[in-house]
Amino acid sequence: MEKRPFNELGLSPEVLKAVDKMGFEEASPIQTAVIPLALSGRDIVGQSSTGSGKTAAFAIPAISKVDSHVRAVQVLILCPTRELAVQVSEEVGKLAHFKRGLHSVPIYGGQSYERQFRALAAGVQVVIGTPGRLLDHMERGTLKLDGLRMVVLDEADRMLDMGFRDDIERILSAVPVGRQLLFFSATLPRGIQDMIKRYSKDPAWVKIEAVTQNAPKVEQVYFEVERRSKVEVLTRVIDLHDFRYGIIFCSTKIMVDELDDHLHSRGYATDRLHGDMSQAQRDRVMEKFRRRGFEFLVATDVAARGIDLDDLEVVFNFDLPNDAEDYTHRIGRTGRAGREGRAFTFVSGRELWKLQSMVRFGKLKIRRENVPSLDQVEEARTNLFFEKLRATLDQGAFKRQDRLLDRLLEQGYPSTDICAALIHLLQGGQATEDDAQVAAGSKKPAREMSDQMAEPKRQPGRREKPVSQVSDPMWIPQARTGREAGFTAVFLNVGRKNRITPADVVGKIAGVTRLPASVVGAIDIRQRHTLVDVSDEHLPMILEKLKGIRVKGQSLAPTLATEGDAARE
Ligand code: ADP
Ligand code: MG
Repeated sequence: MEKRPFNELGLSPEVLKAVDKMGFEEASPIQTAVIPLALSGRDIVGQSSTGSGKTAAFAIPAISKVDSHVRAVQVLILCPTRELAVQVSEEVGKLAHFKRGLHSVPIYGGQSYERQFRALAAGVQVVIGTPGRLLDHMERGTLKLDGLRMVVLDEADRMLDMGFRDDIERILSAVPVGRQLLFFSATLPRGIQDMIKRYSKDPAWVKIEAVTQNAPKVEQVYFEVERRSKVEVLTRVIDLHDFRYGIIFCSTKIMVDELDDHLHSRGYATDRLHGDMSQAQRDRVMEKFRRRGFEFLVATDVAARGIDLDDLEVVFNFDLPNDAEDYTHRIGRTGRAGREGRAFTFVSGRELWKLQSMVRFGKLKIRRENVPSLDQVEEARTNLFFEKLRATLDQGAFKRQDRLLDRLLEQGYPSTDICAALIHLLQGGQATEDDAQVAAGSKKPAREMSDQMAEPKRQPGRREKPVSQVSDPMWIPQARTGREAGFTAVFLNVGRKNRITPADVVGKIAGVTRLPASVVGAIDIRQRHTLVDVSDEHLPMILEKLKGIRVKGQSLAPTLATEGDAARE
């Protein structure tokens, strides 16, 4: 199915700029087909599945056709519901952002007439509304259509189902001849076909078929997630399955940038790929990703298209793809070479409808699951710990460790105590409660030892699951205020993998704030992040001063620690 860059569709610079600002990288198939036709003045019947981008397909030509010097209604868009009218109006607003003097307003039943009279009298050029209320205004004379150039029927089939047929016909009979008429509908039942015959002249028919194909060996799951919780859920799923190599798809360049920053600051090794990057930059990122120089690639469809990768463990649809075809493309990057792949899709709010329609049209097999709880993450990690411990025992090659153990045994420590102490350390515990404080100030913190053990040498350039996972803390303290009264836990985006030590943490804090080391309490260094208790009194200043400071090559982005942070290894 053809998709083209927006700049090949004959759009004005203002509209192109707006499209770019919205983060759309290229026109969807329905947009590619409809926009040039509509700009040429043809009547159109457009048919494609939900979520395929019909709004912009008609809004872009509509905006392009408006003469913003003329303060009269030039475009009328009919929608079945108030919600849809508002959504369409928002999208028109965004797409017209750089077109000076263009005003649009949604008009729907239930809203006060007063407000609508005022908006209409102010000289808007684009009116988006439900048929009943629009007709009402036409009959009152408050909506004048003498200057009308285009009428759009969005979701025509639904409007008919909702009993708007008479209203629509009365509107269409009343508008001036010579106006352009655009019908959009997922299906074309008789009623619509009759209307098309009666009111449009020689329409161009555009039908975009959903491609039905399915990647066989991919286990596909979706979660219903609130938009603002998506990052948290993403990190939980990654942690739960201990994924190390995958792609996270977002719908816009802006989302890619934001998510990459978020994940990075939470200590995940990520990089990004999108259409604003030069070819050389993209090649560099891909090169690095192929040799597993980082774990997760955050990308848009366009940027990731055509890159050939077949050994991903997982694909995340952080945002829904545009259609079933893109979905299938995305998840096809995992589960190749005979291996089982995983695909996780996040939907929030009305995206659920879009997903359901994709499932129907594209015959996808996606299972709904509940968002994993922190308890589940914790339990999975515990199991993983035992598995790895057992595997390490089974391999049984610990010459160096034997000598260390002999020394401890000679000094009279019982072997069970030694084991218990080690597990305590591996869980992220301090050598002793006091040691955390001691470590904070001392030159050779006791914690150093556990750090060294926790981080055996990694082979450069390879990031296979390291045995060091055994030593990751597996049990998790509860919610995270400071451990002592008067202290609050702060999240730092550096951890064991940056080879940070308690001395570094205290050193930095004391250094940039010029406060005594005693403002720092317990320090808990995790694999990818650190929780450090700081005194409440100096909390704002410490947060402020640490921001952007470089530690071990990483720019700090300190935040108040959450329960989620405390639960992550
Ligand atoms: P439809 O009306 O066909 O159901 P919408 O117009 O509501 O679909 O679009 C669905 C989603 O896709 C919206 O969030 C919209 O912002 C987004 N979208 C539309 N066109 C593009 C594009 N070219 N690139 C990326 N996202 C797009
Ligand atoms: Mg729509």
